[in-house]
Amino acid sequence: MKFLKNFKSELTVESPGRINLIGEHTDYNMGYVLPTAIEKKIIFQFRKNDSPNKCQVYSTTFDTGFKLDLNAIEKSAIEWENYILGVLDEISKRTNKLEGFDCTIESNLPTGSGLSSSAALECGLAYGLNELFDLGLTKMEMVKLSQVAEHTYAGTQCGIMDQFASVMSKEGHMLLLDCRSLDYTPIPINLNPYKIILLNTKVSHNLATSEYNTRKNECEQGVAVLKEDYPEVNSLRDVTFEMLDCVRDRVSTTVYNRCSFIIAENNRVHEMAEALSKNDLVKVGQILYDAHEGISKLYEVSCAESDYLVEFSKSNEFVLGARQTGGGFGGCTLNIVHEDGVENFITSATKAYKENFNIVLEAFEVKPSTGTFSYTHKES
Ligand code: ADP
Ligand code: MG
Repeated sequence: MKFLKNFKSELTVESPGRINLIGEHTDYNMGYVLPTAIEKKIIFQFRKNDSPNKCQVYSTTFDTGFKLDLNAIEKSAIEWENYILGVLDEISKRTNKLEGFDCTIESNLPTGSGLSSSAALECGLAYGLNELFDLGLTKMEMVKLSQVAEHTYAGTQCGIMDQFASVMSKEGHMLLLDCRSLDYTPIPINLNPYKIILLNTKVSHNLATSEYNTRKNECEQGVAVLKEDYPEVNSLRDVTFEMLDCVRDRVSTTVYNRCSFIIAENNRVHEMAEALSKNDLVKVGQILYDAHEGISKLYEVSCAESDYLVEFSKSNEFVLGARQTGGGFGGCTLNIVHEDGVENFITSATKAYKENFNIVLEAFEVKPSTGTFSYTHKES
């Protein structure tokens, strides 16, 4: 089958990945998170194709594409197609204004690396179709329908953070987001003379989706027991350490550990926002190390490669703190590194990582960046 790889684009959409400074797995527990979009992104080209219902989507990244019929959208056996199909299905439930379109996707955002290329893919598609067909969806509607698409078609029971950060972020700021009310405050971030350096472990353990859903389920088990004593509790967001200790003998050690991580992690989001506002960068670093300890030992969503890189960073005098960022089981570690030591850190980490895991590390700086935007191409 031949696919359209190039065409005269009517509309370009730039859809970024994201980092999360702190607040891991707190989003689906209705707590707080502190993410931002980054410059690495997926870029979409769109055009209407004058068909009422036939579409073509091509991913340059995977050098493959597929055709679809808007009147017959169903799950695919091919993983990446489901992110597209899920969004189309959700849009079709909300409007009948969608018509045939062609779309190509290129990306400099590593996939499956905890930087949320999945949300960038979903939200960028929704954003582009909203512009192209004047669907009248708000940004929040696009964020929410993209999240639902990830649940129903991709099978990850994710919270709202990834889609929210990809669409709503503001350059030079982190977003302090309350995942229950969806109220958010942009927090200015100035780490100067430190930089945010990501080390991509290049491991993407395939248990990520199933283990993610297991963690969500374990948190729900905790909430069910807590509700016996505290009927007002609806999520771990509502729980304190004192409350958790009262039910300790009625939950498994695993569930206890999961819950205690979420309570601590949620508290860390507020501590981090305060540390940023005071420009207390030593504290910022310490919070990251504390969080990684919990990610690894209590929530158990790390892996040998991420643990190694976080531990390695502790031996480098230029690094204030580090942790694995994203859903877990690999992906990237986020490091706060003095500008004078970036090169030294990257070189020594790359060498040590190669020796230990025989993997060539990928390292790059990220800056808090703006969320999704688009531009049209006028006839010349
Ligand atoms: P993350 O969101 O952390 O990158 P996920 O496993 O949630 O990891 O999502 C990665 C998946 O998103 C890929 O396996 C692929 O199916 C899809 N994807 C991401 N970027 C692209 C792209 N440029 N082209 C096609 N599919 C993509
Ligand atoms: Mg994802």
